[in-house]
Amino acid sequence: MNIVQCQFCKKPFTSLGGRICPACLEQVDKDFITVRDYIYEHKHSNIDKIAEETEVKKQVIIHLLKEGRLIIDSPDGDGLLVCEMCKKSINTGRLCKECMGKVSSSMDKNVSANKKPEVKPVEQNLKGSAKIG
Ligand SMILES: [Zn+2]
Ligand SMILES: [Zn+2]
Repeated sequence: MNIVQCQFCKKPFTSLGGRICPACLEQVDKDFITVRDYIYEHKHSNIDKIAEETEVKKQVIIHLLKEGRLIIDSPDGDGLLVCEMCKKSINTGRLCKECMGKVSSSMDKNVSANKKPEVKPVEQNLKGSAKIG
């Protein structure tokens, strides 16, 4: 276990891997619901407006966007989030759709390359045991 500084309240806490202390996590969950409901009502809002209207910290909203828990429906994503691979502006998560596609297809390749050949079900046995009539 590590002592790390909470990225929101800056207090040191014992981390199991995350960078947010339990108290802030709880707050983030509450904020998430507030912001989610707000976005639901105001689909084309931007992050400044959301922060102002919901009184949720901008950094919390950005955090939620990065986690992919929130999606802001603005064409340029407010330039707050960029794809970690091609640096294109995105609305949610860490990668744009194109790069997500690339990553998942290369992951598929890796998976199938590492996978041992599966034992195919023996069709003949199945047919033989299923007596018709
Ligand atoms: Zn904290
Ligand atoms: Zn990309």
